[in-house]
Amino acid sequence: MNANEYIRLEEQYGANNYHPLDVVLARGDGVWVYDIDGNKYLDCLSAYSAVNQGHVHPKILSALQEQAKKITLTSRAFRNDQLPLLYKELADLTGYDMSLPMNSGAEAVETALKLARKWAYQVKGVPRHKAEIITCEGNFHGRTISTISFSSEPLYRDDFGPFTPGFISAPFGNADAIADLINSNTAAVLLEPIQGEAGVVVPPKGFLSKVSEICKKNNVLLIADEIQTGLGRTGKLFACQHEDVHPDITILGKALSGGFYPISAIVADKALLGLFTPGEHGSTFGGNPLAAAVARAAIKVLVEENMVQNSALLGEYFIDQLSDISSPHIKEIRGKGLFIGVVLRPSAGGARRFCEALQQQGILAKETHEHVIRFAPPLVIDKETIDWALPRIREVLTRP
Ligand SMILES: *Cc1c(COP(=O)(O)O)cnc(C)c1O
Repeated sequence: MNANEYIRLEEQYGANNYHPLDVVLARGDGVWVYDIDGNKYLDCLSAYSAVNQGHVHPKILSALQEQAKKITLTSRAFRNDQLPLLYKELADLTGYDMSLPMNSGAEAVETALKLARKWAYQVKGVPRHKAEIITCEGNFHGRTISTISFSSEPLYRDDFGPFTPGFISAPFGNADAIADLINSNTAAVLLEPIQGEAGVVVPPKGFLSKVSEICKKNNVLLIADEIQTGLGRTGKLFACQHEDVHPDITILGKALSGGFYPISAIVADKALLGLFTPGEHGSTFGGNPLAAAVARAAIKVLVEENMVQNSALLGEYFIDQLSDISSPHIKEIRGKGLFIGVVLRPSAGGARRFCEALQQQGILAKETHEHVIRFAPPLVIDKETIDWALPRIREVLTRP
C-alpha cells in the first residue's frame, strides 16, 4: 500500500479527531523516524514528550520483551513481582514516599483530583462535596469530562457539557490572582509548571515558588501536572525543580514508559497518598507487571544515560541558535531544556504551513494552537543532529 492508500483508509474508517501531517511512519530509531517509503525524519515532537528516551530504546524494548514472555496482567486483585520494585524506584527517583499507577495521563490527573478532594474532606475539614480546586487558564490536563470541565479552549469543551463542578479558573502566571481565589473550601491548586499544549508557555520567574508558598500558608495542596514537562524534558527531572518547588502531588505520564506502553502515575507522600483505602479507586490495567517492567527500564535509562543533563545542555544550545535566526515571522522563542516553542507573528499565516515545509526538509514538528511550532526532540539528541537541523529550520522560517 502507498501513503495515500493508508491515509484514505484512516479517513474512511477512523474518527477524525486529529489533523495529522500526512506522513505515514513505519519505523523509529532514537531521534529518527522513517516513513513507509523509507524517508528519514528528525522527530521534533517525541509523541508529545512520551518518547524522551528515543524511539525503540533497546533496553526498554528488551525489558518489554522479557516481561511479556513471563506475565503481563494480574490485575491488582493479586500481587505481582514488578510493581513493588517500580514503587521503590519511583520513590528513590522522585523523593516522594509513594505512588499510584494508572494508564493514561488523564486518568492520573483524575486520580490526583480525587485524592485532593478526599484530603479536603478527611483532613482539612471541608464540608462534603464542597471542595474547590483552582486551575489555570490555558491549561491542558487531558480529555475526560472532568479535565475538559476546566479547560479554557472552546474546541475542547463547547459540545461536551454539562461539566463537572468544583473548579475555579485563575490566570496562568499570576500568583496573586490564585491567592485571591482561595477560601476555606479550597482543596488544591492544579497547574502545569510550563503549559505545553498552550504553546510552551513559561510563567514569569518566581510564579511557581510563590504559588507553592501561598498553598502552604493556606493549607491548600499544590498539584503539578508534569506529564509533559517531567522526566527531563525541561532540563531538570521535574520542571518545578527550576524553582525548588516540591508539590504535594506530582503527576507523571508520557515518558514514564519511554513511549512503549501507556503508563501514568501520581507520586505523593504517605500522609496524602496513604488516604486511599481498598476499593476507593483502581484500574484493571493500572500497575500491571508489563507496564511496571517497562517503566522501570524507562526510568533506568533516563538516569543512566544522563538524559536530563543532555536536555539542559542541548536545550540551551538549541534555544540560543534558534534565537539567532532573523526572520520577520518570528515573534519569540521560549522554553526550557529541550521544550521549545517558536512563536510566530499572526502575519506569518499560521504555524501549519511551516510544519509542512519542515516535513519536506526531513524534520517533523507540529503546530501547537495556531501560531506556535514546538521543538521537543527526544532527549538523546546530540549536538551534530541539532546542527544538521538548524540550517533547515532557518531556511523554512525565513521563507516569505
Ligand atoms: C498529554 C497530557 C495529559 C493527558 O495525557 P493522556 O495520556 O493523553 O491522557 C495531561 N496533562 C498534560 C500536561 C499533558 O501534556
